[in-house]
Amino acid sequence: MMTHDRESEDERLERAEEVRAYLEARTAVDPESGCWLWTQKGRDGKYGKGTYRGYTWRAHRLSFHYLVDYLHRKVPVHHKCGEPLCCNPQHLQRTTWEDNTAEMWARQNLLEEMQALRDEIDRLKRLLEATDPNEEGATHE
Ligand SMILES: [Zn+2]
Repeated sequence: MMTHDRESEDERLERAEEVRAYLEARTAVDPESGCWLWTQKGRDGKYGKGTYRGYTWRAHRLSFHYLVDYLHRKVPVHHKCGEPLCCNPQHLQRTTWEDNTAEMWARQNLLEEMQALRDEIDRLKRLLEATDPNEEGATHE
C-alpha cells in the first residue's frame, strides 16, 4: 500500500512538472495580478483551451487538475481572480457539489428559520395588540 502510494505520488509530481512547463510555454504572467494568461488561440467559450497528451482541456482546469488536485470532470473550478484566461493554480478554486449542496441547505434552513421568526413576531404583535398595557401583569417590572 505504501509502495503504491509512493509510486503514484512520484508520477503525480512528474506529471505536475510537465503540466507546469506546458502552461509556462503557453501563458504570459500578468505582473500586476499574477495571473497566468493563456496566450494560445484555443478557446472554449471565454476559457483557454489546449490539448495535452491527446486530451482537450480547458487550460485552467488542466492547471487545477495537475497542479492543485485531481478533478472530477463535472466539478466546477472557480477563478478567484475573475480572469477566465488565467491558469495560475493559486487563483483557482474547486467548487464541489458537496459545498454547493451544503450551501443550498444552509440557505434553505436559514430561510425557514427567518420565516419561523417572522411568524413568531407576528404572533407577538397580535398578542401585544390584544393586551391592555394598563392591565396588571402586562409587564414584568
Ligand atoms: Zn488569475
